[in-house]
Amino acid sequence: MSTDRLLEFDDVVARYEPVFGLETHVELGTASKMFCGCSTTFGAEPNTQTCPVCLALPGALPVANAAAIEATIRIGLALGCRIATWCRFARKNYFYPDIPKGFQTSQYDEPLCTAGHLDVEVDGETYRVEIERVHLEEDTGKNLHVGGATGRIHGADHSLVDFNRAGIPLVEIVTRPVPGVGAKAPEVARAYVAELREILLALGVSEVRMERGNLRCDVNTSLAPTGSLEWGTRTETKNVNSLRSVERSVRYEMRRQAALLDDGERILQETRHFHEDTGSTSAGRSKEEATDYRYFPEPDLVPMAPDAGWVEQLRAELPELPAARRARLREEWGISDTEMAWLVNAGALGLVTDTVSAGADPAEARKWWLGELSRRAKDAGVELTDLAVTPAQVAELTQLVAEGTVNDQLARQVLDGVLAGEGSPRQVVDSRGLAVMGDSDELGAAVDAAIAGAPDVVEKVRGGKTAALGALVGAVMKETRGKADAATVRRMLEERVLGG
Ligand SMILES: [Zn+2]
Repeated sequence: MSTDRLLEFDDVVARYEPVFGLETHVELGTASKMFCGCSTTFGAEPNTQTCPVCLALPGALPVANAAAIEATIRIGLALGCRIATWCRFARKNYFYPDIPKGFQTSQYDEPLCTAGHLDVEVDGETYRVEIERVHLEEDTGKNLHVGGATGRIHGADHSLVDFNRAGIPLVEIVTRPVPGVGAKAPEVARAYVAELREILLALGVSEVRMERGNLRCDVNTSLAPTGSLEWGTRTETKNVNSLRSVERSVRYEMRRQAALLDDGERILQETRHFHEDTGSTSAGRSKEEATDYRYFPEPDLVPMAPDAGWVEQLRAELPELPAARRARLREEWGISDTEMAWLVNAGALGLVTDTVSAGADPAEARKWWLGELSRRAKDAGVELTDLAVTPAQVAELTQLVAEGTVNDQLARQVLDGVLAGEGSPRQVVDSRGLAVMGDSDELGAAVDAAIAGAPDVVEKVRGGKTAALGALVGAVMKETRGKADAATVRRMLEERVLGG
């Protein structure tokens, strides 16, 4: 429940200029943790994936995970960053029950990657988001507060700590502040995270499942009166865990801060919590300054000095990145920017690509995924990728339509069978008897029956009212339960009612 006063969004952007920035944490998908050999598999029994290193027992020494360093450099390269030729880990000192060492091994003034950028598109406009740094650190454990209503520490009977997550490699990607986007700020922030997620997927460095916390955002937002030379005081909304929430949190902070500034009040520099249910933020602790962490170089780890030749090899081996891929597919499929945006927003681009690879016509593949299948996913309240149909099966379905085995209406019934687990589209056509009836004796009998059953209609048609034929077509389609081809039925009716 929020009691914040909020200004209407249109009034905010009429009088104030927003600046936002994002710190994004990505859990890497390495098999083992950052500084020990413990497994990183999600969902294990609490505290079963731990060892003296990640529990920080006395005398245990860390060894850096080479795969995590490589993944971080690849992320940096994909974001156009400079890769450090020499850098170090640093200790970030703070006490919290979920960090057993009493400090987090992170990077401070010597990050692995610096000075990159990411271009994002919103409504056909391109916005450049500058990347300040990409650095490598380790995740914390997880506190579980038991006995309270909210899962928060307030009101809980006791708390438990699960260290399975402690020490999982975490990459932090920090943008520079993004000014000058005005009313588009919430959408550009969201588009940035969406594009970043696509890049991470293309690189294969993380599963980036936001609902599992593989990717978590801290969103900085500030406002200054339009035309002001100085930026306003920023707030930092922590752990924003969905694309929609990124957009909502920026919008909410803009409206909340504007109402305060309108009343001549000051914005407090503080961290804030985002509430998914209401879309609001509430005050957390006031923000520590960097010096509070007493950073110093990690003495237990050797510095990192990536070999220039190796970095160039990693650069040469980067996969096709999402923006380049979209441009290529737009060209190959002959579709517009807007049509591509629909595919991306529907989460259908990969599915359509795979369906085309399996032999479907691009236009047909788009039609099925954006139309019928999107509707089914929406009705079932699931993502497109969660539907029990594969791109290869959709390709087979379009093939059945193209060769005339089924029409669109029958194809939807075929889909019912596939989604119900009855097998491939061809198997469902056979088992449910869904093939279109050709000019067969069976169809001929249905046509004759329709003619015999409606002499008045036949009279009208013969008298020149050919539009009345539609009623007879409808009768045959009904009789054959949609399995006849309407054009064939019409031709057969014309032959028998009017023909020679
Ligand atoms: Zn361990």
